[in-house]
Amino acid sequence: MYYNEKSILYYDGEFVEATKAKTDLYGQSLHYGYAVFEGIKSYKTKNGTRIFKAKEHYDRLKKSAELMMIPFNYTSEQMVEITYQLLEMNGLSNAYIRPLVICAPNMSLSKSHKSSLVIEAWSWTNGYLANHMRIVTSSFQRPNPGAFRVEAKVSGHYVNSILACQEAKDKGFDEALLLDADGYVAESSGANVFFEKDSRLYTPPAGSILPGITRATVFEICDRLGINYEEKLFKPEEMRGADAGFFCGTAAEIVALESLDNIAFRMNWENSLSALVQKAYEHLVSEEDYTYLKPQLQCAH
Ligand code: PMP
Repeated sequence: MYYNEKSILYYDGEFVEATKAKTDLYGQSLHYGYAVFEGIKSYKTKNGTRIFKAKEHYDRLKKSAELMMIPFNYTSEQMVEITYQLLEMNGLSNAYIRPLVICAPNMSLSKSHKSSLVIEAWSWTNGYLANHMRIVTSSFQRPNPGAFRVEAKVSGHYVNSILACQEAKDKGFDEALLLDADGYVAESSGANVFFEKDSRLYTPPAGSILPGITRATVFEICDRLGINYEEKLFKPEEMRGADAGFFCGTAAEIVALESLDNIAFRMNWENSLSALVQKAYEHLVSEEDYTYLKPQLQCAH
């Protein structure tokens, strides 16, 4: 699914066949989750294949490495360039791109002294946009910001995501909504969350979340379309039965929520401002103008 005999990946200055690439088994990244990564997408647009928010993602990768004290010397510009080459070599256009920074052999609990950059990419056509997810409040909290650098995209954090996502699926839901240690809504296992009430969007502030690049893009879209939004702490009670809600992330894009804890969102999705944001996002990733959506705002309510 992710690679075959023809797939090429980037590994420390070289493009190598995915089936021949090797790593050692004596490292902190594998044993302790001490690695940082990104999730990026490229799209086929009228201007050719374009990596969406490429610089923002690679800047965050560098920031994550820095917060983890992992030495890492690539510039974002270099990584963007390498990624375009990699896409071309693999004949990819609509793709998911996974850069990963792993540490050199060292089994101690001290910081890394040397790292390797791996970039993998595989074909991805989105299956999420048409979905309406049924989500459930998780029994797992997000990692405590007093114990982890939650604003960094660190491999080890995702054990929490696996526990929460699997629990939700085992209970018959599509995804989990995780709270922070004080019971406020934080985010999903791999996406940020918004809800809509009385023509206003709400999302948790930075603090206990990975403040996503898609979340920032939603703010950008709202600013351009004149949609009101607010970052604030809220409990699941406030979100249940609101007008609409969505998850947002690079992989998920903007995905509509049908219900939280089996309580449905009230509006018909198509009539919500959230649906307008979703439509604008689809246009934006394809490098198409979306400002024409603005005048429809008056009709939306
Ligand atoms: N929160 C978590 C826990 C995530 O894994 C992701 C996906 N990277 C996001 C939020 C959304 O981030 P982005 O929009 O930058 O993909």
